[in-house]
Parts: sequence; C-alpha cells; structure tokens
Amino acid sequence: MNRKRVIIIGAGAAGLTASVFAAEAGALVTLLEHNEKPGKKICATGNGKCNFTNERMSGDVFRGTHPEFAENILRQFPPEAVIAFFEKLGIFPVKKNGYYYPRSGQASSVAELLVREARYRGVKIKTNAHADAVFCEKGIWKVVSGGWTYEGDAVILANGSSASSIAGADGSGYDLARALGHHLIPPMAALCPLKCSRPKGRKSFAGWAGVRIEGTVTLKIKGDQDRSQSGELQLTEYGISGIPVFQLSRYAVRAIADGKEVSARLNFLPEISKEELPAFLEKRRSHCREKSDQELLKGLFPDKLIKVLCQEPELASAIHSYPLIVKGGSSIQQAQVCSGGVDTEELDPETLESRLHPGLYMAGELIDIDGTCGGYNLQWAWSSGAAAGLHAAKEQL
Ligand SMILES: Cc1cc2nc3c(=O)[nH]c(=O)nc-3n(C[C@H](O)[C@H](O)[C@H](O)COP(=O)(O)OP(=O)(O)OC[C@H]3O[C@@H](n4cnc5c(N)ncnc54)[C@H](O)[C@@H]3O)c2cc1C
Repeated sequence: MNRKRVIIIGAGAAGLTASVFAAEAGALVTLLEHNEKPGKKICATGNGKCNFTNERMSGDVFRGTHPEFAENILRQFPPEAVIAFFEKLGIFPVKKNGYYYPRSGQASSVAELLVREARYRGVKIKTNAHADAVFCEKGIWKVVSGGWTYEGDAVILANGSSASSIAGADGSGYDLARALGHHLIPPMAALCPLKCSRPKGRKSFAGWAGVRIEGTVTLKIKGDQDRSQSGELQLTEYGISGIPVFQLSRYAVRAIADGKEVSARLNFLPEISKEELPAFLEKRRSHCREKSDQELLKGLFPDKLIKVLCQEPELASAIHSYPLIVKGGSSIQQAQVCSGGVDTEELDPETLESRLHPGLYMAGELIDIDGTCGGYNLQWAWSSGAAAGLHAAKEQL
C-alpha cells in the first residue's frame, strides 16, 4: 500500500501534534519549521510552566466568528485524551484549580517530549526551513522552501499567528492561506492589556502604575451586553492589565476596530455591594472622624491607588465603578494570542480540510478560534493538530 505523504508547515503545538497523529496513522511526514528549533512558543507558555489544558471546557472559553466550530474538533481529542497522551509521552500532570501543568514546572519538557515522540514515529523535522509558497499541481501538493520543493499528497498549515515577539511568529501562514484563496477574519491582538484614558474632565490614573489588586472589570461596548471578569487587576501607566483584562481584551479590540465606543468600569471592592458601600465607609469613618479620605482608605487599598481614587468627585462611586475609556489593545507583539484567522466556514468541521482545496488542512491558532487564559489555546492547538494530522493521513489517495 502506498503511504500518504503529508507535509506540515510549522513545528509548534498544532504542527507537532499533527505530525505525531499523521505518522501514527501510517503517513510519511515532513515537518517544516523556520526557526532553528521546534516548539519555541510552547516553551514560553504559562510563564515557562505550560498550562496545557483545563478540566473545565464549558462556557465562553472558545471564541471566534463561529465558536461552536471548536466543539467537533475538541470532541475528537478532548482534555482527558490530551492528558493521557502527554502522560504516555512522560509528562506527569498536576492540576491547580482545574488548570493542568507538567510536574516538571518546565514548558520546555512538553516541547521536547513532543519532538521526541515525532522523531520516534519517523517524522522528518526540517528546521531553518521557511515555507515560502504552497500550491497544488496535478494533484500533488508542493511546498517551496528556500531552494527546495517538497512534494506531498496533503499539506497541513499549522503556522500559528503573529501574536507575541517570539521568533517565528511572523504571520506568514496568513499569507499562505490567502494565496490559496482562503478568506481571513482580520487577525487582531487578544489576551492583551488595554490602553485607556479618562472620561472628559476626570483626572489621570497614571499614578496607580505598578498596583496589583483583586477586583472586577466590566467591559461596556455600545450595543452589546456587558461582560465582567474578576481576579488580579494590574494597573499600569497606560491602562489596565492582568488575567481578567486579558479575558475581555479580544472583545474590546475587535469592537474598537469596528468603530464602536468601548468603556470599562473597575470595581476595587467587589466583595462589598454598591448598596452596602456607603455604610461600610461611614463605619470606618465613625471610628475616627478626623481622618482624611486618604487616611480612611489606608489598610484597604495600596497608597498609589488611594491617591487616584481620592481625585474622583465621589469616593464610593470611584471604588465600585471607576470609569475608563478603552482606547485599544496592546500591539500584537505584546499579545499572547490572535483572534481572527482563517474563516472556519471554509473548513470541514470534522476534518479541518479546506473546502476550497482537497488535500489542504489547517490547524491551531491560524484558524479563527481563540481561547481564554487557562490552557484553552493549547487545548485547541492539540485537538485541531490531532484532527488535521489524522484526517490528512487517512483520507484516500
Ligand atoms: C507568552 C505566551 C504564553 C502563553 N501561555 C499559554 C498557556 O499557558 N496555555 C495556553 O493554552 N496557551 C498559551 N499561549 C498560547 C499558545 O502558546 C498558542 O495558542 C499555541 O502555541 C498555538 O499553537 P500553534 O501550533 O497554532 O502555533 P505556534 O505554537 O506558534 O507554532 C507555529 C509554528 O510555525 C512556525 N512557522 C510559522 N510560519 C512558518 C513558515 N512559513 N515556515 C515554517 N515555519 C513557520 C513558527 O515558527 C512556529 O514554530 C501562550 C502564548 C504566549 C505568546
């Protein structure tokens, strides 16, 4: 029996997984990576510790123009199967609040064991190999890289996005997909800090830079529902950051790009309701009536934040509903992922094969699916990589 030849572009989370699944299904696999080393972005994940999946998969954790597109793909390689797969490779999984990490505490161990597995399965990994062009000629897929042309029966684009400043994230996958006639939902920064300003007449917040505080951020987009996230807010000279802000950032960035007005409200004391707050402050004041507003908040908030709050016209409202105008996200280089990417309407929801070109597959962040913080982007990369790899290897020649 002729073995199918599968060429995969990009040795990141999705491409490496695709290579293992395709090789295991019997294909001859060549994996092209333009970096000198595979798996660079995996090594940077989770602050170098790699939050590789999560036990909770429900709710608004996958986003995109058609977030439901992710469901079919996740079903084929769900978190339990991902954990079992990595255990087999040697990763001892540990769970913290539902988030999975390798016990080694080293993201590099995930990348290295995946590469080990790919090589063990016979995958040919070519590094320093940038894919310049992809096309199909008389039923044969060709990938041009430098002076070489690789030939295959199927090609998987797993180039990732242009998010982060990690070497290799150059967005060239978008160009390859576009050149093949695929339509892109414009890629934009997601999981990123937000740049903000104050409403007219309100004082600057710049003095709070460096403060980290538990709180709630509510994003308000004209004509859309309010969205709130709680956790550690990081206050910066230019605006707001931290996980709760990251989780909402893709909505803000895309709404601003659509010309919509976006604002945010910060609640620095969500454990006390708006109604209870005046009485709560009055009780603190009653103990020593000589205290200034700044002294009243000492012990409750860090000094830098107190100064900013005390510039506001009304203290209680500043504490539970500090208003900001959202001007935009950070640069794509400062973002952890991109929203947008290859339009899912042009992909088979089961196999990830292109509806435009038989034998062409896509996987990972290149596709218009993005996840929240919590291991969801890697879960998408593993699941979509597995689906594309398996189907590319199995479909009849
Ligand atoms: C700092 C940081 C921390 C993160 N932490 C987490 C986390 O803890 N958990 C989580 O779930 N997600 C996390 N993410 C997101 C996650 O890393 C990505 O979503 C995931 O790696 C995407 O996988 P991918 O295979 O699609 O792309 P990538 O992993 O980026 O792989 C794409 C590969 O293709 C190569 N390539 C691109 N173009 C070409 C070309 N033309 N020719 C040859 N090679 C090419 C690139 O060099 C790269 O190696 C984090 C991201 C960042 C930046």
